[in-house]
Amino acid sequence: MSFSSLVQDLSIRDGNTPRRPQQPRGTASASTIDDRASHISRAMSYASTTATSVSIAGDISSQLHGGYHHPLARSWQAERQLTKSMLIYPLFISDIEDDETLIPSLPGQHRRGLSKLVAFLEPLVRKGLRSVILFGVPLRPGSKDALGTAADDPQGPVIQGIRLLRQRFPQLFIVVDVCLCEYTSHGHCGILRDDGTLNNQLSVDRISDVAIAYARAGAHCVAPSDMNDGRIRAIKLKLIEEGIAHKTLLMSYAAKFSGCLYGPFRDAAGSSPSFGDRKCYQLPPGGRGLARRAIVRDIGEGADIIMVKPASQYLDIISDAKELGKDLPVAAYHVSGEFAMVHAAAKAGVFDLKTMAFEVTEGIVRAGATIVISYFTPEFLDWLDN
Ligand SMILES: [Zn+2]
Repeated sequence: MSFSSLVQDLSIRDGNTPRRPQQPRGTASASTIDDRASHISRAMSYASTTATSVSIAGDISSQLHGGYHHPLARSWQAERQLTKSMLIYPLFISDIEDDETLIPSLPGQHRRGLSKLVAFLEPLVRKGLRSVILFGVPLRPGSKDALGTAADDPQGPVIQGIRLLRQRFPQLFIVVDVCLCEYTSHGHCGILRDDGTLNNQLSVDRISDVAIAYARAGAHCVAPSDMNDGRIRAIKLKLIEEGIAHKTLLMSYAAKFSGCLYGPFRDAAGSSPSFGDRKCYQLPPGGRGLARRAIVRDIGEGADIIMVKPASQYLDIISDAKELGKDLPVAAYHVSGEFAMVHAAAKAGVFDLKTMAFEVTEGIVRAGATIVISYFTPEFLDWLDN
């Protein structure tokens, strides 16, 4: 049927013009039966016919539902699908061998000693865990000092943890957070001057040494989170000097904002500053332009991946990172406070935990991230199977 005859047919069926001459009442004929069948068919198709004629009259763009009626079709609406390989799971490794302590402010998450790591990870790796990010937690008395000496202690939990995981889980991609705040007596992310401000040069020297120690121990990826100026360049140059730049991924916490969403993490890692705050090196929450400059700078200094942290309050920054670093993967850290908020709201009956975990994580992916550091990773390994 041609388009013009289709339109004519529809206008007839809408009642503008009779299709054929009316039969006189009481006249039984084959055409009466035909008419009855036709009436039923017309009645049954009336609703859809009306809608179709509206569409054909020029309102087609209003008809969207068909594109996402089916669950599979709904998933096709996303530019990127959330997959297990996008997820990195944070691990807190303490220097107490058989430690396994629940972190009260971070629901379901534990600090673990080296002897508890393998048994914990085995089922997760079996379910498809591809990557973890390690944070060291020195708990022994006297393990902290002004220089964060314990950060690259060869016997410390991080370096020992890298070696253990590389050996026991050869397919697992090991990311290691690089910072000094867990290891410094003052809890700041670098070495301080007498006035309490960061000494950027000394901090960068020290942090780049720590990154090299982790890479030498076998970390696939080093991820400096300290926000000192110039540390990406310094780490990249030392990786090149060491001859390991070709096999070490450098992920920059390029746009890391200061704020109150890190509280549970600091409980977990014992990294709260003993005085002041981190507002002079982490970005101010309104600083979109500053974040863009930091992203551009770190790309220029040799970052292989750009990270935005926190995630759900900074979706515009994730989108900016994707635009500025369109040839780089973008990571986002769904941080401890965001995770704890989702749990608290679900517990209060505001929403279903799983539904919100998907909604927030898919929002982060939609904004432009292809890597998500998430405390929900163990759950997603189950949820993404179904
Ligand atoms: Zn830090």
